Amino acid sequence: MNYDRILIRYGEISTKGRNRSKFVDKLRLSIKRVIADFPAAKIEAGRDRMYVILNGESAEDVIGRLRSIFGIQSFSPAVKTKKDLESMKAAALSLFNRLHTEGQTFKVTGKRADKSFELDTNEINHFFGGYLLQNVPNLKVDVRNPDINLQIEVRKEAAYLSAENIRGAGGLPVGSSGKAMLMLSGGIDSPVAGYLSMKRGLEVEAVHFHSPPFTSERAKQKVIDLSEKLAFVGGFMALHIVPFTEIQQTIHKQVPENYTMTTTRRIMLRITDELRRRHEGLAIITGESLGQVASQTLESMYTINEVTNTPILRPLITMDKTDIIDLALQIETHEISIRPYEDCCTVFVPASPKTKPRREKVQYYESFTDFEPLIEKAVNETELLIIKPGMSKESIEGTDLF
Ligand code: ATP
Ligand code: MG
Repeated sequence: MNYDRILIRYGEISTKGRNRSKFVDKLRLSIKRVIADFPAAKIEAGRDRMYVILNGESAEDVIGRLRSIFGIQSFSPAVKTKKDLESMKAAALSLFNRLHTEGQTFKVTGKRADKSFELDTNEINHFFGGYLLQNVPNLKVDVRNPDINLQIEVRKEAAYLSAENIRGAGGLPVGSSGKAMLMLSGGIDSPVAGYLSMKRGLEVEAVHFHSPPFTSERAKQKVIDLSEKLAFVGGFMALHIVPFTEIQQTIHKQVPENYTMTTTRRIMLRITDELRRRHEGLAIITGESLGQVASQTLESMYTINEVTNTPILRPLITMDKTDIIDLALQIETHEISIRPYEDCCTVFVPASPKTKPRREKVQYYESFTDFEPLIEKAVNETELLIIKPGMSKESIEGTDLF
């Protein structure tokens, strides 16, 4: 007997009261996108659980995809049977025979959601427990710590049997917390910051500053590949590529060298904020971690942050590099991030950037140049790519996303 559906438990979202239907819709959409290449599978969403009906698609493959979706607490592949005792016995034995190996212990956990069913919870446990003990040789009961916990749930429409409980990725469904712009470099940190933000339900659009010919096509490809990894979590990723060469050259002409980095960051932030406004986001995410490099001292953040009131989310701010790397390895962005291609900030990095840049000073240095038209031009010439899992390098702007 094969599994014919996967039961999905929501976890945290079910505590969200009136917002629940929005959460359920977002989760359903995430699942739909991530299993789009299993066309026979159908999703049934209810208030407190969801099913993926497999219709012949491989349970194992679909489970592989579900593991990365935020908003799922746990899931169980399940068999659906009619609610008569004979059908349920046959289904229980068949499922059990597939999972059980000699000498293992078990218990039955019944649940009677349909109160009109002939056995109550205790009776379900005893009836099916006894039946399995008679029919499976060398089987022992262990109610505390069983190897197999056969769950039998009797609901109105049918009975469901499952024996595996697989832990989901947790978090909240992508999009259920609103939208933010992720400043995505080619480095190790910012993809991790994006991942953690998505975990708390943010829909993320990436913004990358590109300075050809100082930064190469391969540096851009790196960011496309990173975006693709993030697309596996939410179904797709919008990536804005900002042409930054002219601005960087202007900064280097106009601003004293030890303040170029500060001004560069301030202008990147202004551009990202304008893109955020145009695409209706409510926050900006960076991969900053306190004290890691010159731009990430508190003084530096204070001076850079002056250019906007928009909330800046820094999910990695208190994390050590080794912990960030562990996460990057786990989400498979690390091997992309360590490709050696330069990004715009490494090319133009001054020999000794100020670690304690002052607001008054940077304001003064910037006052000799009108950056506004350059910023406007960069925003207008920003290229938008929609990255889907498995299709990096393609621009499909304007395509209907599912
Ligand atoms: P990362 O590993 O994310 O590159 P980092 O430790 O190298 O971070 P910085 O280079 O100081 O730190 O960058 C700090 C943050 O600024 C990055 O995490 C990212 O959010 C943003 N950033 C830096 N360079 C770019 C870029 N070229 N395009 C977009 N955002 C960038
Ligand atoms: Mg970097």
